Amino acid sequence: MQEITILSGKGGTGKTSISAALASVAQNKILCDNDVDAADLHLILKPEIEQKEVFAGAWIPHIDDETCISCGKCKDLCRYGAIHQHDDKFSVNRFQCEGCRLCERECPVNAITSERSTNNNWYISNTRMGKMVHAKMGPGEENSGKLVSLIRSKAKELAKKNNNQFIINDGPPGIGCTAISSLTGTDKVLLVIEPTRSGLHDAGRIVELIERFNIPCFALINKYDINQTVTHEIELYLEERGIDLLAKIPFDKTFVEAMIKEQTIVEYAPKSNISKEIETVWNQLIQ
Ligand code: SF4
Ligand code: SF4
Repeated sequence: MQEITILSGKGGTGKTSISAALASVAQNKILCDNDVDAADLHLILKPEIEQKEVFAGAWIPHIDDETCISCGKCKDLCRYGAIHQHDDKFSVNRFQCEGCRLCERECPVNAITSERSTNNNWYISNTRMGKMVHAKMGPGEENSGKLVSLIRSKAKELAKKNNNQFIINDGPPGIGCTAISSLTGTDKVLLVIEPTRSGLHDAGRIVELIERFNIPCFALINKYDINQTVTHEIELYLEERGIDLLAKIPFDKTFVEAMIKEQTIVEYAPKSNISKEIETVWNQLIQ
């Protein structure tokens, strides 16, 4: 089994469109949307949920006004300024709270109790391209890196059970903890880069991260013709880093038309040059 993760240094590079297009040409695979903070693969693949589970999120403390003696210790101890005082009443702002539970441990009268948030879900779904594992974080929720690790392990279990040969991870943008969770233990990375200054800069940051994990990395420049100068700079950069450039995809409004029809480019325009390029990219990736 091979696990292939598609990443980008920043959002808006067309990573999900490319991931979905690769899913169209890949055989015997499972899909996993690792971008749990802003999942969007489901918009194209329209999953039918087969299994829905809760992912226990951060601890949320609650102060019982009846028990509280208004000593102010919790407010003094909280490093994140999450405990607020109005007259003699204390309350927790959950969006500032980091869930460390120090306030709960130190309250002299046990007026604070914590519960884990149940505002995050993960799913196993059926799509027209096979099984998909995905998740949804509630607003302001934390631990997205752990959620990525969880859904990746579920995708692996499922792939083993169903004898799938490939797992395609649509990774998150950037280099945060979700990107790190997406990278750990994956077999290959396809980096989608757009030819802008910020695209090149952010690609550099993610390449450094990938190199630290020592994972084989390949690249694809999307919409390469919107800035040929930067495209050339990206090519030089990739050459310098020893990263194989598998394709340069031009800007094409067919991508937008396909998206409007909720299809991948390969489904919408199977005979187009871009669809053929996508197939070539996939074949190179799995070699
Ligand atoms: S530490 Fe406990 S008793 Fe003191 S203000 Fe906070 S909740 Fe109230
Ligand atoms: S759990 Fe930690 S971060 Fe949250 S309010 Fe208590 S002390 Fe502050």
